[in-house]
Amino acid sequence: MSVDVSPARSAAVPVSFEFFPPKTPEGVAKLRAVRQALYARRPEFCSVTYGAGGSTQEGTFGTVREILAEGMDAASHFSCIGATRESIRGQLQELRAMGVKRLVALRGDLPSGYGAGGEFSYASDLVEFIRAETGDAFHIEVAAYPETHPQARSPEADLQAFVAKAKAGADTAITQYFYNADAYFRFVDDARARGVDIPVVPGIMPITNSTQLLRFSDASGAEIPRWIRLRLQAFGDDSEGIRAFGLDVVAGLCRRLLDGGAPGLHLYTMNQSAASLALLDRVGLGA
Ligand code: FAD
Repeated sequence: MSVDVSPARSAAVPVSFEFFPPKTPEGVAKLRAVRQALYARRPEFCSVTYGAGGSTQEGTFGTVREILAEGMDAASHFSCIGATRESIRGQLQELRAMGVKRLVALRGDLPSGYGAGGEFSYASDLVEFIRAETGDAFHIEVAAYPETHPQARSPEADLQAFVAKAKAGADTAITQYFYNADAYFRFVDDARARGVDIPVVPGIMPITNSTQLLRFSDASGAEIPRWIRLRLQAFGDDSEGIRAFGLDVVAGLCRRLLDGGAPGLHLYTMNQSAASLALLDRVGLGA
């Protein structure tokens, strides 16, 4: 491996990258190349999703192992829905043995048709359990929803759920992606007003493909503002036009977030490097 992966320069804005575990040998090889390209931007860490899109624990752990072996800090996403205390205890032991020091602790979602079951109801229960079992062995990230989680009883109930995760021992939060900076600033202000002072890092989804973006956003509750939706539709099959427009929009969002005090950026890479690299260049976070 030839790329210097020393941690982010202290003066730089902390950036992290999210990947999903590939399902094929070709995907594994491609992701290795993607990571090398992205490591040149000296991320603070790289995270690997778990359970989303039917991925397995071995897929997540395998990708995490590779990232650690490349000299990069890795965050393993870790969900508790359907799990027992015993199974979580075993996974925590395995992660510690692998040298993992950072987790993204989540409730997660079961595929439709499965009953919830399990011994954990919410991510706050998981955070509390991890702290009780492992003390400070892990830096714990949790999810935050500036536009409110789709299953929340109300925006206030969702904020309280976020407060519970912070009070249970989370160190930092990463948001669901959004394209409305005001929703983020309001969420952070509301959390601060409820006594939560952990950093809330905006999750950023580059716009490269309108069909995919609209599908994800319907599932996750992330709002695509009407003007963006209409502009994307108007591009039709013009993928170059979509990418250029998306870069303008998302770079503007990132600048606004950073100017307003966001503590860093977490990029949902979708296992691609080009869009994230172009975005960081445009925002002025070059190599
Ligand atoms: P929670 O914080 O437990 O919240 C879930 C719901 O329960 C919310 O509606 C909340 O308002 C409500 N709630 C919480 N506590 C209470 C309470 N005490 N009483 C009543 N209601 C309550 N999914 C994956 O499958 N794999 C991944 O790797 C993954 N990574 C993610 C990374 C990030 C940064 C984000 C933002 C999301 C990620 N997700 C992932 C999606 C996530 O699993 C789903 O959004 C899931 O539905 C909620 O998980 P959570 O940890 O936010 O749950």
